[in-house]
Order: sequence, then C-alpha cells, then structure tokens
Amino acid sequence: MKMKTREGREIELKQDKVDSLRMHLRGPVFLPGDTGYEESRTVWNGMISRRPSIVARCLGTADVTSCVRFALDNDLLLCIKSGGHNIAGLATADGALMLDMSLMRGVWVDPRNSIAHAQGGCLLGDVDRETQVHGLAAVLGFVSLTGIAGLTLGGGFGYLTRRWGWTADNVVGMDVVTADAGLVRASNDENADLFWALRGGGGNFGVVTGIDYALYPVGPEIVGGVVAWPASEASKVLELYRTLAEKAPPELTLVLLMRPAPPAPWLPKDRHGTPIVALLACYSGKPEEGEKAVAPIKSFGNPIGDILVRRPYAQMQSLLDATQPKGRRYYWKSEYLLRVEPALCEKVLEHAARIRSPHSAVVLFQIEGALNRLGEEHSPVGNRDARYVLNLASSWEQPGEDAQNIQWARDAWNDMKVFSTGGTYINFLTEDEGPERTKTALGKALRRLAEVKKRWDPENIFRTNHNIKPA
Ligand SMILES: Cc1cc2nc3c(=O)[nH]c(=O)nc-3n(C[C@H](O)[C@H](O)[C@H](O)COP(=O)(O)OP(=O)(O)OC[C@H]3O[C@@H](n4cnc5c(N)ncnc54)[C@H](O)[C@@H]3O)c2cc1C
Repeated sequence: MKMKTREGREIELKQDKVDSLRMHLRGPVFLPGDTGYEESRTVWNGMISRRPSIVARCLGTADVTSCVRFALDNDLLLCIKSGGHNIAGLATADGALMLDMSLMRGVWVDPRNSIAHAQGGCLLGDVDRETQVHGLAAVLGFVSLTGIAGLTLGGGFGYLTRRWGWTADNVVGMDVVTADAGLVRASNDENADLFWALRGGGGNFGVVTGIDYALYPVGPEIVGGVVAWPASEASKVLELYRTLAEKAPPELTLVLLMRPAPPAPWLPKDRHGTPIVALLACYSGKPEEGEKAVAPIKSFGNPIGDILVRRPYAQMQSLLDATQPKGRRYYWKSEYLLRVEPALCEKVLEHAARIRSPHSAVVLFQIEGALNRLGEEHSPVGNRDARYVLNLASSWEQPGEDAQNIQWARDAWNDMKVFSTGGTYINFLTEDEGPERTKTALGKALRRLAEVKKRWDPENIFRTNHNIKPA
C-alpha cells in the first residue's frame, strides 16, 4: 500500500504491517474501497477532497496510543479527525494514516463539581445533551455538529462566551497522547506548559483524548432565536444591533446576519432567496429577564419572521445546523473587531448586496465580555481585545462557481480588514491562508508555542494543523 512519510515521501507499506495495526486496535481499520472509508475521509467542507491511505477509527485511548506508535515506527504522516469541521480540511491528508476519533463520544458529568469530561471525538451537541440533564452547560460554539476538539484547541466561542470567555478559558484539564505515544494529563498542576499551549495552539502538541470543561448553570429554558427583516430595513437594523450590543448585559449575545433568506419554514415562501437582515439572539439567564432584554428586537420595524422565543438551550445550540450542511463548498474570511462602527455598517450593507450565492452571509458575532478581562499571556488563544468577529462566509453548491464565490469573500475582506484589531481566529482560517495568517492569529504567543512544541513534539509528528515549527 502506498503511503506518505512525515516529510511527504512516498513509501510502500507491506500488508503484514496493516494486519498488525488491525490486530492492535479494538476499533475498525478502513482502506480505500471499504464500507465506511468514504464517510471517514470526507470532511464538512466539500472543497476539500483528500484520500488518507488508512483510516483507524479508534475506540479508546489504547487505540489512539497504538496508532501514534504505529505512525512513529513506520514514519507515517498522521492526521487526526474529530468533528471534521475545520474549513481548511486539516483533519484529512493524502496518503496519511488518519486517526478518526468519531467513535469516541462519551460524556460524563460530575454535577457536584460542575465539570464534564468529554471524549476527544465528541460533537458540541453530545456535551450539551448530557450537561443539560443537570441544568448545566459548557462554553461551546453555535453549531452542534462541530467537533469539541478542534474548536477547543483553537479557542472557541459561542452564546456563553460573553459571560465566561473563550471555550479554552474554561477547560480545567486534558488527557493527551504525546508524540512518543505516551499518555499524560495536562492541567494547571500537571504539565502546565503543555496545558497552556493546548488552549489555543491547535492540535500541534498531541492527540487530545479527553477534555474536562467547567460547567455553569444555564437553562434548560432560555430565550433565544431569530428575527428577520427585508434587506430594505438593513441600515436601521444595523443601527439597532450596534446600540443594543453596546449596552447588552453579559447574558445576552447578539449576532447579525445579512444573506439571502434560507428556505426555512418560519419565513414566508415568497421571501425565500430574497435578501434579508436577521438578528440572532440568545439570553442565557432567567427567561423572564430575557424576554425584557429582547423586547426592543421583537418590536422593531416590520419583521418577516420572528422565532425569538422561550426554548430549550439545547435547541438553541442547533438552530443554525441546517444552514451549514456537510459537503457544500465553503470559503471564509474573518477578522476580529474592536467595535461595530457606522463606517463598518456601510461596508456590511455594500458587500451583502454583492453576495453571489443563496447560501452566503456577512456575519457579525458579539463576543466581548469575560474574554477581555484575562491577560494576553493567559493562553495562546490571546486576542483579548477582540469584541466582535466579522465572518464573510461564502457557501455554494457547484465547483464551477468556485471562483466567483471565493472572489466575493476576498473582495469584501480586502475592503473591510481596515476595521480589524489586527488579529484573526485560527479556527476560521482557510486552506489558502498560510503561515503569515497563523502568525496573525497567534501573535506574540507563537514564540512560546514553538518552545513548548520543541519539548513535546520535536520531530513534528503532529503537523496536519496550523503548524508551529519546533524552536
Ligand atoms: C459550521 C461550522 C460552525 C462553526 N462554529 C463555530 C463556533 O460557533 N465557534 C467557534 O469557535 N468555532 C466554530 N467553528 C470553527 C471550528 O471551531 C473549527 O472548524 C474546528 O477546527 C472544528 O473542530 P473539529 O474537531 O470539527 O475539527 P477537525 O476538522 O476534526 O480537526 C481540526 C484540527 O484539529 C485537530 N484535531 C482534531 N481532533 C483532535 C484531537 N482530538 N487532538 C488533537 N488534535 C485534534 C486536527 O488535526 C485538525 O488540525 C465552526 C466551524 C464550522 C464548520
């Protein structure tokens, strides 16, 4: 079987070696053509199509250590897939041994200590489902099918970020299979340098088999949802967003979207595909307070749809899922912002009007709050001055439409990057954004990360990520 070494050389791996890998694992091993291979090798972004030579679907930490050991012994390129949602397709690589974590989705909640232990292959929805049984929640992202591992290792933000910071700020420990196929605990008390690096430095330092999250009382019922207006009202809604967001209590997170209306049942059929502006809101505190907090949104102008209501928090966490299906083509450009200013709002209007596909959007996420109160050195996710995230999210169906949709995002970004803090989110970087953009995302932390990399992965075993070279 043809495989790639870490340095990208092609080698032949004998069948008896593949057989021995099979014998050492409890989970299944897939080769090209096997049932299950396609499901594993494909990732969320349909722009990415790579073919690992072997897929090992691990069933536990012992399988993970066996895979890392096998990759080491045979000098194989190793890639790690959890949720497969990385837009740059970092979970998959041609000719690699893919360590597929997607069967490791156990979650154990310790309600007395408000901690959840989640296995490295969990999706966000797995954690929310188990923690909500106890009226608790971890700080996770907006789409329930995203993997916790990639999201947390790169930073992570969602509806609870304003109250408690980046997802990575709320991790209390991790279990890690290291570059020498050992197993260690990373926390403030054990291997603190590794723990620091894992909270923002991506998958550069080991395979994370378990993550312990601090939990907070949230839900089960909250006030959340969306209100949408025709794009003709967009400048007024942007002004509403700007002023509401500035004084919003930390329990309230507001997201503004401009896009063609999706074919959602809560929007009138004759509006589907027409340009709209929408406010997504989630009030994670008491519902009665939430209803007061969102009243100015619900009573504003002439909405064409309003599903901003009391609902289960777990439902809120999957509200956007249908808009982001696996296999469509995606290209993003993103920046952190200090504020939403009138000049930026004008650009939002201008570039939303130029959207080329029914699935694309200009999105403004509000994240300011707890994350701004920690020091820059707290963890490499950094960007402690970021208050909003601008995401120019291009999405379309046909390969023949790649050029025009990519160009839309690039043009809008070129015009709007002047509003950036100078930082960007590592988890939103696309395949064509190289080491310079990784530098932009990690900033001053990069030097210290390179030192930690040298200690924990001097041979750069873990390289299918936004890679940090050992110092
Ligand atoms: C639809 C969608 C919505 C999103 N929403 C949000 C959001 O609300 N908030 C937010 O912060 N981000 C969001 N993201 C970005 C998301 O955080 C990243 O795409 C993240 O990389 C996804 O994690 P994953 O486990 O699914 O990734 P994968 O594609 O499986 O992996 C990504 C990277 O992490 C490494 N990796 C994966 N698992 C492990 C592991 N167990 N140990 C070590 N390394 C590992 C991989 O090698 C790869 O380099 C979203 C992405 C998508 C596509």
